[in-house]
Amino acid sequence: MSETIWIAIAIDGPAGAGKSTIAKRLAAELHFVYVDTGALYRTVGLAALRRGIDPTDVEGVESLLPSICVELTYIDDTQRVLLDGEDVSELIRTPEVSMAASAVSAMPAVRKFLFHLQREIASSHNVIMDGRDIGTVVLPHAQVKIFLSASAEDRARRRYDEMLAKGMEAVYEDVLEDMKQRDYNDSHRAAAPLKPADDAIMVDTTGNTLEESIAMMKKLVEESLA
Ligand code: C5P
Repeated sequence: MSETIWIAIAIDGPAGAGKSTIAKRLAAELHFVYVDTGALYRTVGLAALRRGIDPTDVEGVESLLPSICVELTYIDDTQRVLLDGEDVSELIRTPEVSMAASAVSAMPAVRKFLFHLQREIASSHNVIMDGRDIGTVVLPHAQVKIFLSASAEDRARRRYDEMLAKGMEAVYEDVLEDMKQRDYNDSHRAAAPLKPADDAIMVDTTGNTLEESIAMMKKLVEESLA
């Protein structure tokens, strides 16, 4: 019996580069499973905040891990993330949780805790997975690796517009400051820092409309898989 070869497309890059929106659309067109790995780190960040643990406290966060259950599930092809059985997919989208996610994601124990979950999905599905270390650590053998970026101002503007569209309150300058702080944290940490894989295709979406970026990425993926 021949073994099924699953296809993995890894999309890494800084916050707000459009990874999730683009990856979701591509996944729908290709009939792949979309995996938003940032949601997993956000869920651990939320768990810490809920238990009153400072997300920068390594020992505190490590002691939390054995007592929480983080799961991914799909409802109508949309990823939902569960914390101890509760769907927290919306609750993890606040600026406070973004910062907590950035802090806990620097901890090797947290990365190890979430590693298997990410690997497992890719071992039995065709996936488009987005994150910071997918092409470098989680799926180093992915058939397609893309590193997606855009200027910090462009990324902050998109995140700000998204927040307003969801009815959240936001100040552009604060969003930009948070974005720069997270970029710094993500690329300067010792554990799996944000950096392109050696064999990643670099894509800059500065100034592009969403549709332009999607078309560009689709072409790249099709060419890479041809
Ligand atoms: O992608 P998103 O902004 O939702 O990710 C939230 C945080 O989780 C990021 O700032 C980053 O610190 C962390 N993260 C990570 N590795 C991933 C995905 C996200 O460290 N693969």
